[in-house]
Amino acid sequence: MKNVQSPLKKIKRNHFIFDDFKLFKEIILKYESNLIFVNLYFQGEPLLNKEISKFIEICSKHKIYTHISTNGISLDSTLIKQFIKNKLTKITFSLDGFSNETYTKYRKNSNLHKIISNILLFKEIKEKEKSFFPIIEIQLIVNKYNEHEIPQIKEWCQKNKFLFKQKTIQIYNNYNLLPQNEKYSRYVKKNNNFILKKNTSSMCKRIFYHLIITSDKEVVLCCQDKIPEFIISKDNLNNINKIWFSKKFNYFRAQVLKNNLYLCKNCGI
Ligand code: SF4
Repeated sequence: MKNVQSPLKKIKRNHFIFDDFKLFKEIILKYESNLIFVNLYFQGEPLLNKEISKFIEICSKHKIYTHISTNGISLDSTLIKQFIKNKLTKITFSLDGFSNETYTKYRKNSNLHKIISNILLFKEIKEKEKSFFPIIEIQLIVNKYNEHEIPQIKEWCQKNKFLFKQKTIQIYNNYNLLPQNEKYSRYVKKNNNFILKKNTSSMCKRIFYHLIITSDKEVVLCCQDKIPEFIISKDNLNNINKIWFSKKFNYFRAQVLKNNLYLCKNCGI
């Protein structure tokens, strides 16, 4: 069997992480009254940012919830204790398989055993610290290699009191990855094409309440714009209010609601 290639291969970035704490702090202080939740990740591994705990801390000081989504490989007890102390609200672990064989189909050269033991270490430290936060969530993107493991993962989550989130895989061209069971897929096959089971772009609310900043300091249309292709603003984060109400952002919002963007035709949200 061949190793699966990530559909995210096309992502273009000059920087892997957003680690400009000074700028981050400025944004938080300026917009704290508008912010409820900050997701400290977008198409990358947030733990590569060695100062991630500081980012969490400044948010919690200003009563803003935080969330990170990680592969969990570089966690250790020091970092876990910092996350708990700095009041991280939620941590999601991407667990795209429950055996090394299935896991490494989607995440090459990774080590499932290490990840599982890091997740359990997190749970153990959290219990010792008697902390409710962060909420631990296990996320599975269902593909044809791991679909048979869903019951096993669910049971493991239940046993350990982890939230379980099951997501459909987004495909760009390699439809071979789709699960056999259609109920786990966001697509149906029609006239030899794969199309979304439901297209809800005309009801998309995300464009009205969330703002995405990439590691290259670009503001992009939404979290589904992974490449990115719909860039609203570049290297100009000193007036986010202006970007939020800009003609360009509103133009793209209108296109989304009219279902004119091909990006939305592949969106599972
Ligand atoms: S891809 Fe389109 S429908 Fe999906 S979240 Fe983004 S803007 Fe909304």
